[in-house]
Amino acid sequence: MKKFSKLLTLLMILVMCASCFYGCSSDKKEENSSKKIKVVATIFPVYDFLREIGGDKIDLTMLMTPGAETHSYEPTPKDMKTVSNADFFAYVGGDSDEWVDKILDGNKNDKMKVVTLMDCVKTVDEEHVEGMEEEHDHDHDEDVDGKDDSDKDKDEHDEHDEHDHDHDGDEPEQDEHVWTSPKNAIEIVKKLTSELSKVDPDNANYYKENSKNYIKKLEDLDKKFEDVVKNGKRKEIIFGDRFPFRYFVDRYGLKYYAAFPGCSTDTEASASTVAFLTNKVKEDKIPVIFHIELSNNKIAKSIAEATGAKMLQLNAVHNVTKEDFEKGETYLSLMEKNLKPLEEALN
Ligand SMILES: [Zn+2]
Repeated sequence: MKKFSKLLTLLMILVMCASCFYGCSSDKKEENSSKKIKVVATIFPVYDFLREIGGDKIDLTMLMTPGAETHSYEPTPKDMKTVSNADFFAYVGGDSDEWVDKILDGNKNDKMKVVTLMDCVKTVDEEHVEGMEEEHDHDHDEDVDGKDDSDKDKDEHDEHDEHDHDHDGDEPEQDEHVWTSPKNAIEIVKKLTSELSKVDPDNANYYKENSKNYIKKLEDLDKKFEDVVKNGKRKEIIFGDRFPFRYFVDRYGLKYYAAFPGCSTDTEASASTVAFLTNKVKEDKIPVIFHIELSNNKIAKSIAEATGAKMLQLNAVHNVTKEDFEKGETYLSLMEKNLKPLEEALN
C-alpha cells in the first residue's frame, strides 16, 4: 500500500510537471512572438530590403503610404509615435528626410538603432547637366518650414516644397537616390543585415542566410543591366522628367540628359528646356523618351509627340502604387521591368 501511494505521488508529480512544461512552453512562445523587434522603414526600397532580410522574424512597418509622393512626405502624429517606438529605424538620409531629425531629436528611445542608406555607400552630388532646368527655389531660402508659402505658387509648388528648403543654394545637394544602382543596393543590404543582427543577435544567422540569398539575386540583376548596356548600340538616355538615376548611370557608364535633377521641386519645364531635349532626341536619333514612376508625364509626352520617340517609364522605385504593393511587387521585380525599356532605348 505504501508502495502504491508512493507511485501515485510520483505519477501526480509527473503529470504536474508535464502540464507545467506545456503551459510554460506555450507561454514562452507567445512571449517570443510579441518580442519580435519593431523595425520601421521610411520609403519602399528600404522597406523591401528589410522585408527580404528580416522575413517573419521582424515586425516591419513602412511609413510612406503606397502611392504617396515621397519628396513631400510629412509625418503624422501616429508616424512619429511609430518611429519613436522602433527598435530599428532605417531611412535614406537625404534632403527629403529633414523631418526625421525633428522626430529623433528628443523622441529617440535609447536602444533604437538608426541606419541611413546614404551612409552605406559612396554618395555623389546632384548633378546639373547641359540643358537641365535651373532650380527656381532660391527665392524662399529662409522658409525652412514651408509654413509661410501658402499664398504663393500654391498649385504648382506646394506639393514639392518641403524637402528643398534647408540647403542654402550654394552647396550642391547630395543625390539621395542611392538605391537605384543594384550595386549600391547590395552594400545597403549588407549594412542593414549586420546592424539588424546587432539589435537581434538571436536571429542573426537567419538574417545572414536571407541576406546571402537576396544578394545573389541583386548580383544577377546588376549583371543583366550590365549586359543590356554592353549590347546596346548607344550609351545615352534622355528623360523628359526628373532624373533620380545618377547612381544607376554612373554604375553602367551611361550618358544622360534630363529636364530636372533628381529631387527637383519643379514639374513644369521652360520652353528652352523642352526645346533642348527635343533637339537632342532628334540629333542623336534617340528612340525612347523616358519618364519616371508616379509622374504626370507631361514633358516626356510633348517631346514624344514632337519627335516620334516612344514614351516609356523607367522606374526609380521611390514608392509603389497601392495596386503594386498589394500585388507583392518588390525592388527586384520593379527593377527587372526596367530592363526592356532600357534595352529599347539603347538600340
Ligand atoms: Zn527623389
